[in-house]
Amino acid sequence: TRPAASPVATPGARIPAVVPAVVGADLEVPVRGGELVQYANLDYAASAPCLEPVSAAVAAALPAYSSVHRGAGYASQLTTARYKQARHTVRAFAGARPDDALIFTRNTTDAMNLLARCLPEGTTVVVFDTEHHASLLPWPKAVRLAPPAFPGEAIRAADEALAAVEGPALLVVTAVSNVTGEVWPIAGLAHIAHRHGARIAVDAAQLVPHRRLNLGALDLDYVAFSGHKLYAPFGTGALIGRPDWLAEAEPYLRGGGAVTAVREEAEWSDDPQARHEAGTPNVLGAIALAAACDALGATGWTPIIRAEERLLARLRAGLTAIPGVRELSLWGPDHPRVGIVSFTVEGRTAREVAELLSTRYGIGVRDGKFCAHPFVRHLLGIDDGGCADGGAVRASIGLGSTEEHVDRLVAALRSIAAE
Ligand code: PLP
Repeated sequence: TRPAASPVATPGARIPAVVPAVVGADLEVPVRGGELVQYANLDYAASAPCLEPVSAAVAAALPAYSSVHRGAGYASQLTTARYKQARHTVRAFAGARPDDALIFTRNTTDAMNLLARCLPEGTTVVVFDTEHHASLLPWPKAVRLAPPAFPGEAIRAADEALAAVEGPALLVVTAVSNVTGEVWPIAGLAHIAHRHGARIAVDAAQLVPHRRLNLGALDLDYVAFSGHKLYAPFGTGALIGRPDWLAEAEPYLRGGGAVTAVREEAEWSDDPQARHEAGTPNVLGAIALAAACDALGATGWTPIIRAEERLLARLRAGLTAIPGVRELSLWGPDHPRVGIVSFTVEGRTAREVAELLSTRYGIGVRDGKFCAHPFVRHLLGIDDGGCADGGAVRASIGLGSTEEHVDRLVAALRSIAAE
């Protein structure tokens, strides 16, 4: 079934009428002086608002839910079926291979930490310094690679680092930077990893809201993402990938559901999903995540990408025209990117800019180092090793973004930069 469509576009409204509407699109917020203005949410990369079909799916599940598995009662049976269906839907959305495991987690951070606990003894992890902390920090002894100057350099650096590893290796890389929105060459990196007999884990948190993920076609071993960046509410994410390491590792959580029998010792399930999902799962979260996947799948990527690219081009053209505003990028203005732009404003701290945008203009953006300290320091040319500076401002767009939001941001920045 198709998701509920947003109203037919009015001038300045979100562009294709078939894209599902976000909940709270008409939210009004007070600005200085007490006036109410429509909230311009340009902070999708932090958390995207929930889609209307997602909200409807959760509401439909509320009247009859109970713990999954082994319950004979109607509510438990229904909830178990819905949980199973959610797993199936999310797997299909990600292009999982038939034998891949999908473990529902709390978010991407949780998924990467789970994977870190499942590495065979002696695995060397190779990671770029451009990563979000969620993918940088779970492996304290990782080989860390400097931010590559161009995409081919990323492949060359990974090639060299993996060639030097003896024993099992895992390359960890983000598909889309949460700082610059730039798209990484993950298919090429997967190819290099496999040539060295290594595996690749991809942080797809910022990819999945913007582009199709096809785990199987890209030949990725693991992917992780978060529901709350994918138009579902908080509390659900996924780790999807090769089952063997997951089936052999210590259970991530010890408890009910992860065992086949308990006597003196517990006999842990060989099924990686059961093994690592002890305790009552977040079924409503899984239903929400699956509904978001369904809604995006039913909409199709073409209208989503087309709308985003129009808004992104408008935003970047506007920013470029403001004296003193500098966009951050690793691989230059022409490298493909999604609707995420970080920038600095000369003479202003990022916090000042973000606060003025909020309090004067009702615009929500993010400021700081976006949980990617080494990368932002690199982009800003800061080498003090500390965090005293304020980082940058990040504007990010999604399905509820409009031309009016973008234009308001550009006009506001022009005023702030000129003050
Ligand atoms: N990876 C990337 C690229 C992100 O942008 C984020 C969140 O900002 C994360 C990982 C962490 O996501 P979560 O906080 O949902 O675990």
